[in-house]
Amino acid sequence: MISSSPREMENVIPLNDDKVAKPSGGVKHVRGVKRPGRSRPKHPGYGLQPAMVSATAKKEGVVSTSFLEQDAAYFQSYSHLGVHEEMIKDQARTDAYRDAISFHADSIRGKVVLDVGCGTGILSIFCAYAGARKVYAVDASDIVVQAREVVQANSLSDIITVIHGRVEEIQIEEDVDVIVSEWMGYMLLYESMFASVICARDRWLKPGGLMLPAYATLYMAPITNSEKYAESIDFWRNVYGIDMSAMLPLAKQTSFEDPCIEMITGENVLSWPVVVKHIDCSKVTIGELETVHSEFCVSSMMMASLHGFALWFDVSFGPRIITTEATDALFESSSMENNIVGDDDAETTLGRLRVSRKRTSAEECVILSTAPEDPPTHWAQTILYVYDPITVTQDQLIYGSITLSQSRENPRFLNIHLEYTSGDRHCVKESVMR
Ligand code: SAH
Repeated sequence: MISSSPREMENVIPLNDDKVAKPSGGVKHVRGVKRPGRSRPKHPGYGLQPAMVSATAKKEGVVSTSFLEQDAAYFQSYSHLGVHEEMIKDQARTDAYRDAISFHADSIRGKVVLDVGCGTGILSIFCAYAGARKVYAVDASDIVVQAREVVQANSLSDIITVIHGRVEEIQIEEDVDVIVSEWMGYMLLYESMFASVICARDRWLKPGGLMLPAYATLYMAPITNSEKYAESIDFWRNVYGIDMSAMLPLAKQTSFEDPCIEMITGENVLSWPVVVKHIDCSKVTIGELETVHSEFCVSSMMMASLHGFALWFDVSFGPRIITTEATDALFESSSMENNIVGDDDAETTLGRLRVSRKRTSAEECVILSTAPEDPPTHWAQTILYVYDPITVTQDQLIYGSITLSQSRENPRFLNIHLEYTSGDRHCVKESVMR
């Protein structure tokens, strides 16, 4: 069966259990609250920067003369106050960064920090408050004019140096101990800003330096959303008593061709999520993010219509790094508490702690989550709606694969190739996040 929708193909294929991997991932399903729709402004004319241009694109000469114009348009979009206001008012986001910076204060105090994409300068100021000796606040957008004034007005100009320019092109005279950046786009990878952070990391971060955030994970799960389907599609079945079903293919194309940025709740989610990509920010390379591919197999938790797939992410700011001075203090306080001063085991433990220059504590770390069941953020969730819903029963398997790749047209765009099978339905959906 071929669907009437232009960019989704359906073929009836038999279910092959051999190919089915075991379900993975995990999320707690809690009752969600319907939240008002909010979304990060899309930036028309997103452009590219040298760091994010793939080697293949360079070789094939795809990097055209329009590159500088596109790049300028991207940074121009970040000169508008509204984008920064929305980000700062996103309490889950800004609180997480503030808490993470204060949580890692021991690693920031007296150290040199680089803030990649400082915007209004808010994260640089949090780092100065955490005791940083020096903060380089870099942004290529004109918002730095205001950032400089904010820094001055808060008497932090001796600590924070605001630099106007692309992080790929500027110079910093010293290596840094910490890199902080809020680089995440919709469905994590949209905007491709992390390539710029990787470039900065490889240029200036000292070995073993701190990355904030430290890890990022992109998740995906099938969803049901009858409300959305009814209001955008079923609506055409009966308009003032008139059968307007002829509009259905166009309605599906209009509403569902591109990914949607929408808030859903835990109740919309049909299965445990799968991890599409896990990123260790200290190690990942630009090449690894050019194409991300993941296979999935999940089992529906209920009987419902499968209307699409949701993607969301979380970032973790990592466990606290304890330096030798801090471990000594920790050891002294814990040995006092446990009355083990002078104990042989305690001496051995002390020796081990002193030998290791750095170790992590078992404490929990700060996590910023954009999951449907967590407090809302301006990223909401990214939904890939399918053109024709599939009815799934409880425990029915839904399996397939997703590939996200940087667009040749503009590396800040993402090409999305989704294939999924459930029961006797096999579908392929191609879309572009632009
Ligand atoms: N750190 C601020 C702003 C985050 S938005 C905050 O948390 O509120 C991301 C910022 O990064 C934008 O202001 C954008 O202009 C900047 N940016 C993106 N890529 C950059 C690059 N390659 N060089 C310098 N700035 C960049």
